[in-house]
Amino acid sequence: MLEQAQRVLKDIFGYDSFRGRQGAIIERVASGGDALVLMPTGGGKSLCYQVPALLRDGLAVVVSPLIALMDDQVATLEELGVAAAALNSTLSAEQQRDLAARIRRGEVKMLYLAPERLVQPRMLAFLQNLDIALFAIDEAHCVSQWGHDFRPEYLQLGQLAEMFPNVPRIALTATADKRTREEIVNRLHLENAERFLSSFDRPNIFYRIVPKEQPRKQLLAFLSQRRADSGIVYCLSRKKVDEVAALLCEQGFPALPYHAGLPSETRADNQKRFLNEEGLIMVATIAFGMGIDKSNVRYVAHLDLPKSLEAYYQETGRAGRDGLPADAWMAYGLQDVVMLKQMLQNSEGDERHKRLEHHKLDAMLALCEETRCRRQTLLAYFDEDLPQPCGHCDNCVDGVQTWDATEPARQALSAIYRTGQRYGVGHLVDVLLGKENDKVRSFGHQHLAVFGVGKALSEGEWRSLYRQLVARGLADIDIEGYGGLRLTDSCRPLLRGEVTLELRRDLKPQVAAKSVSASPASQLVRGEEREQWEALRALRRKLAQEHAVPPYVIFPDSTLLEMLRSQPTTMAEMARVSGVGARKLERYGEAFLEVLGGEAETPKAVVDIRHELISLARAGMTPLQIAGQLQCSEKNVYTLLAEAIGHQQLSLEQALDLPEDLLGEIQDSFLDGEGELPAVSEVAELFAGRVPEGVLYCVRAALQAEFEL
Ligand code: ADP
Ligand code: ZN
Repeated sequence: MLEQAQRVLKDIFGYDSFRGRQGAIIERVASGGDALVLMPTGGGKSLCYQVPALLRDGLAVVVSPLIALMDDQVATLEELGVAAAALNSTLSAEQQRDLAARIRRGEVKMLYLAPERLVQPRMLAFLQNLDIALFAIDEAHCVSQWGHDFRPEYLQLGQLAEMFPNVPRIALTATADKRTREEIVNRLHLENAERFLSSFDRPNIFYRIVPKEQPRKQLLAFLSQRRADSGIVYCLSRKKVDEVAALLCEQGFPALPYHAGLPSETRADNQKRFLNEEGLIMVATIAFGMGIDKSNVRYVAHLDLPKSLEAYYQETGRAGRDGLPADAWMAYGLQDVVMLKQMLQNSEGDERHKRLEHHKLDAMLALCEETRCRRQTLLAYFDEDLPQPCGHCDNCVDGVQTWDATEPARQALSAIYRTGQRYGVGHLVDVLLGKENDKVRSFGHQHLAVFGVGKALSEGEWRSLYRQLVARGLADIDIEGYGGLRLTDSCRPLLRGEVTLELRRDLKPQVAAKSVSASPASQLVRGEEREQWEALRALRRKLAQEHAVPPYVIFPDSTLLEMLRSQPTTMAEMARVSGVGARKLERYGEAFLEVLGGEAETPKAVVDIRHELISLARAGMTPLQIAGQLQCSEKNVYTLLAEAIGHQQLSLEQALDLPEDLLGEIQDSFLDGEGELPAVSEVAELFAGRVPEGVLYCVRAALQAEFEL
């Protein structure tokens, strides 16, 4: 069975191997068993039912809540030469009759439809007279009444179990939590389903969270490194979406707005353009997102704080579905917290529900002020343990400086208390800095003991401190009292001098600006590759227009990138590129070969993974992540890294991220003796269990390269 599945994978989809648990899932469903699949966005859920559908006789029925998504999937399948169709309200009565006739004749392999359609008695009766290969229930979390995407029609899908007892059913979702999982099993009657839980880590996403100073300027700096890329910028309010979109256009960034206040045609138009054109920026409220299947969104930028880690994970997860490096960037400040808490307070719902939402917001804040690895924290929230820091987030890469803020924090809290627990940060900072302005004088605050005691810190430092006090729950925002700060019970030990407080030191603006450009996804394609990359993309655009599909349906970015790096010169070599299946090879192979061959003077690269490896390392990925990306062993990656270092294609710093002192220690142990560098095996014992042996090979290669200079 698995062998057959492999063949379908390569012949139809053009991929060499299954990702993660795809193989096991496909085996289960293809052999007639039920399955519950939890996989992050971009994990490759579609193949989990598409491959079994092709392996089994009969019609595969796929339930999906969004029409846009269905059309996209159908277009993708048709490009692969698979007979797929969507049954939805956009079809005329006649088209629907036609489709039914084709289905009866067995000419359709996969049928996509909305849940409300499927559960119509006529539809069910129609299907009962057919041979059904499987039911796939996509976005299965829509069955959960507690989730934000609840669809009542999903509840009725439970009846499939009884009506089609011999047809395997597979439910899929990217929602991670336990409660949703149990609800899916209960409501869809999937008691016998095997459960496949994947890691929710998105290793190709680089996380960065910066304090908000001049957010629009910060955003422009971030975007200026990513001119040709598509991305999403999320804002909280419609007004802000409009303003930011206008600002970006003014600054030469092609941007479109998207929010619920726009006429529905404008929304549909903008969404369509975002899917079909390259290099567009969508500035949006969270109304934009679900059903965005675009695989090459290179970054998601948040100008406002999401209201929970669930939301943050889901929104940032729209970046990098193609597995290539992508960025999640966010600027956040105290004002966000005030605004979100106010919105929460004014929202409907009972007290218990509101309390829960407050807790969720607190977890989001904690991530912002986190001093350890962001990815570890994020995954821990979803009950997943990442044993090592990831090496691929701002905290891991830049390190976090902390400082002993015990005394200033007491002064800050005391300023809140002495002024009567009703003022916002601006006024409190004025008092601490001893500014005798009108407001201060009108309340007589210049006479307070705390007046002017804080001159040792700058205004920015005080603001950062207050922000962190709130994030840690040591101070609270009084929503009824117009956003003034209050003390909380948990600040008492600090005021009494029983505990100390370490806080993050915000990066200086210059440093922060530099670190924006150091982010990895902006270097997907290197300078000398640009021209050919653009040529490949232009051809793809042209073909996409001819076929009236989005460009990534022709080939995803990852496939174009592999063509660029492996430089196939024959159809046989082209067939080896991941993502080039038989049908696409036949249709497009020649055309792409021609574009690649157009640059005959440049020497053709060897067909192997070395180039990719080097560029991933340069982009800041760790060896473990590279191994995942290239689907080879970590040991292999180290060997190739050492080789590249030896050839001076890569610096040691680019390849590895070692603490300064550990690196020194390793170098010393190689340089201890005289004459030749000792072999790795001679020093390996010293570092056994501390670093992978591969690290030693890399350091040795770097030393050798240096000495031979
Ligand atoms: P999900 O629905 O889980 O978000 P998709 O099914 O859209 O993910 O897959 C994400 C991307 O990964 C798609 O471009 C898909 O073609 C690609 N993909 C899926 N499985 C594989 C595989 N085994 N090898 C290579 N690419 C894959
Ligand atoms: Zn990290």
